[in-house]
Amino acid sequence: MDGTPKEPNDKTAEDIKKWFTTKLSGGVFGWTAPTWFGLFLSEAEELYGKRDCQWTSLGIEISNGQNETNVCPSKKQVHIRLQSTTLNEHDFTLYNLAHETIHVLGPVLKDEVNFLEEGVATLFALELKHYNDANCCKIMRSQLCADKNNYRPALEDVESLLRLRRDAIFQLRKTEKYLSRITPSQIVDAVPACPKELSARLRAKFY
Ligand SMILES: [Zn+2]
Repeated sequence: MDGTPKEPNDKTAEDIKKWFTTKLSGGVFGWTAPTWFGLFLSEAEELYGKRDCQWTSLGIEISNGQNETNVCPSKKQVHIRLQSTTLNEHDFTLYNLAHETIHVLGPVLKDEVNFLEEGVATLFALELKHYNDANCCKIMRSQLCADKNNYRPALEDVESLLRLRRDAIFQLRKTEKYLSRITPSQIVDAVPACPKELSARLRAKFY
């Protein structure tokens, strides 16, 4: 990424249309970015507990920046931004949308996000069952391991926590709906076997 904003060209405009236009076929409507988001949200809530319903989700917009979740605390509104340039890659778009869905469960500003939340978002996207290419998760995981980034340690730490208690995230969110506000002592309360260093790393700020 060179960080230079790019205007959508005709090809990108086609891709955007694809993600927001549904076709009725045999009495069934096709999938769009909003309906995928709805499915991912239900699956995330099933796994990790209900989102904080005080927030209104405005849905999805396409941007020439990065994939992100935009949060407006004063209005309690949240929406997902998807990067326009990768919309032509179906599975990668689902991966990014699934990742951002986790940030909608208990939305916080970017400077508040911790390793725990990013690790859960990464894991959720990696374990998604809806990719066209069955190898997508493997490919995404190996890319994650090859790149030098914070997502890999975040993922590994969340996986370590889940090895100690499989439903740790669900249990933690019973006490604190906002993953990024969970404290090390709440982690240890829910998962007594969790080493101190691990709980400290999970609560560290990600950005
Ligand atoms: Zn994220």
